[in-house]
Amino acid sequence: MSFKAVRVDKADKAVVARFVEMDEAELMDGDVTIRVTHSTVNYKDGLVLGGRPGIVNRFPMIAGVDLAGIVETSSAGAFKPGDEVLINGFGLSQSHFGGYAQKARVPAKWLMKVPAGLTRGQTMAIGTAGYTAALAVLALERARLTPRRGPVLVTGAAGGVGSVAIALLAAAGWRVIAATGRTAEADYLSGLGAAEIIDRNELSAPGRPLGKERWAGAVDCVGSTTLVNALAQTSYRGAVAACGLAQGPDLPGTVLPFILRGVSLLGIDSVNCPMPTRRLAWERLATRLDLAKLETMTGTIKFDKIFEAGADILAGKVRGRLVVEID
Ligand code: NDP
Repeated sequence: MSFKAVRVDKADKAVVARFVEMDEAELMDGDVTIRVTHSTVNYKDGLVLGGRPGIVNRFPMIAGVDLAGIVETSSAGAFKPGDEVLINGFGLSQSHFGGYAQKARVPAKWLMKVPAGLTRGQTMAIGTAGYTAALAVLALERARLTPRRGPVLVTGAAGGVGSVAIALLAAAGWRVIAATGRTAEADYLSGLGAAEIIDRNELSAPGRPLGKERWAGAVDCVGSTTLVNALAQTSYRGAVAACGLAQGPDLPGTVLPFILRGVSLLGIDSVNCPMPTRRLAWERLATRLDLAKLETMTGTIKFDKIFEAGADILAGKVRGRLVVEID
């Protein structure tokens, strides 16, 4: 049976993504075949849709790092036809066919059942971005940070990871400082739970190796000089969870925050994160994320608008999250 997919091919040195019709026989190996109903657009998806090299490492590939859908067939005991399931990351869109297709076949060990209390659409409104935000919040908690220690900074605040991080941190009682280039989105960010909004320019240019102690912790989506400044202004024995590279992948700083203030830098990887930690993150999202806030941060698009959405996320024009209706 044929289905519609966004296939990524390599032609000479160029990477090209486009809509194609594929046949179920072309799907990769896996124990579970899924009718995909929803996906989403993460920053990384924007890169693949835009033909940027470096993410896909096997061609042809189906794009889309996230998917939610309904199990059609399964040879794994843990899943049966009709189960509602989701996947974030693992090899999707890198080494295994991803979520921008009406069908997927995957190893059962990558799959999770849709958590009670959430719909398939809501799991994709959360998507890799939201689940990464939950991993960052859990990492700050594992570093023994609590709201009593002072405020928490979120950079890239109006983006997907940032928006969900603000909502989760505010729900956990933190005073959240949101750093954004879109100060016109102040009402949106306050609505999610930000207590203070600062212009991202305050953090994006090179600063002092150690600054005034302004926050106990941070969730950083931006990397580069912004991450360096976030570290330099973190208070004694605080911690910064590094998730992203929207400004850049470099880290042009000094070790002074680490060796003079005992600040910790916590690395966040969503793609290969082990299942027990994923489950904790999704449990936090299912029980503590305000679904009304999730709705305010989410837009919905049809599958055929995916390329426009990919260009928008790279241009920093997407506020919060996007759900893609695949089916
Ligand atoms: P979005 O594009 O939704 O958000 C990124 C935000 O970063 C933008 O909305 C903008 O926020 C800010 N930003 C963009 N460009 C710059 C810049 N030049 N300087 C400073 N800030 C900038 O992406 P996501 O939220 O989905 O992802 C955020 C980052 O996290 C990305 O780099 C992504 O690759 C990474 N990521 C990493 C994961 C992991 O496993 N570690 C998983 C998921 C994402 P504002 O408009 O508020 O200024």
